[in-house]
Amino acid sequence: MTAREPGGGTLAVSVVGRTGDLSGSANRPEATTTPSGRSAAEATSYQRLREHLAYLQMGAAAEHLSAELDRGLREKASATQVLERLLQIQVEDTRARRQRGRLRFARYPVHKTLAEFDLDFQPSLDRAVVAELSTLRFVDEKRNVILLGPPGVGKSHLAIALGIAATDAGYRTFFTSAADMVAGLQQAHLEGTALYKFRTYVGPSVLVVDELGYLPLDQQSANWIFQVVSRRYEKGSIVLTSNRGFGDWNQVFADPVVASAIIDRLLHNATVLNIRGHSYRMRGYTAQQKAKEGGARVR
Ligand code: ADP
Ligand code: MG
Repeated sequence: MTAREPGGGTLAVSVVGRTGDLSGSANRPEATTTPSGRSAAEATSYQRLREHLAYLQMGAAAEHLSAELDRGLREKASATQVLERLLQIQVEDTRARRQRGRLRFARYPVHKTLAEFDLDFQPSLDRAVVAELSTLRFVDEKRNVILLGPPGVGKSHLAIALGIAATDAGYRTFFTSAADMVAGLQQAHLEGTALYKFRTYVGPSVLVVDELGYLPLDQQSANWIFQVVSRRYEKGSIVLTSNRGFGDWNQVFADPVVASAIIDRLLHNATVLNIRGHSYRMRGYTAQQKAKEGGARVR
């Protein structure tokens, strides 16, 4: 029987049994048993296991090891079940930590969710379009989302909520105001690190660009926006908010050629949400007028 011992925990347990049998003494098993009822050999295995988990940086599993082993014994669970439960705890912990990391990286100014958005308050918004966006298919399809409307209608809220939903789903995202992005690229350009800086805005699966159009942009600034939009073109989604309709973008960008080049790429594969429905600001926006009020996909 001893020659066929498979080793590990089984061996440790049988060692206790044999020691007890051989000695015939009631004291011996106590001497080879840890205070928690584990044999000495098993205690060593347990310590090693904790060390392995610590080395592999599986802190949550290490923390729950003792409790899960006890539970396994209590419930006569198989080794597979005990391992599965333990790793499940570690996976959940790692997933939550990565999620927090992505959220920190993305630099959202406030935390907003789609659930917090009151659709009843905003009847001009097409619920079906918002529901479709909340599936995050737009991220996989590298579709852009353009939120237009006057101040206070919830453009930033929706943009941030979509970005955070994507972050929660495991995508890398990044939030910036249009002004900060332009300033960041201009600064990097002066320092000779513009190419590196572009990675911040091109790398993530979703780039949220808030408040385009609040300030008019000079030629160079318009060029930075154009660079980001074209580098992301068909590579990743942009969620953009603006208080100015496309008809006004000629004024926002100073250069109408750059403006139409940016609009062209942004709208090639985009969902447009005009939160107040038809607006005076949209008067110059003719190319996509077939798009239905509230939201439409433009291809
Ligand atoms: P915008 O970017 O269009 O100017 P915001 O998204 O900043 O507007 O909205 C202003 C404030 O009002 C934010 O705190 C936002 O969370 C809140 N808000 C706007 N619309 C709604 C809504 N429909 N439901 C819940 N909160 C909203
Ligand atoms: Mg806003």
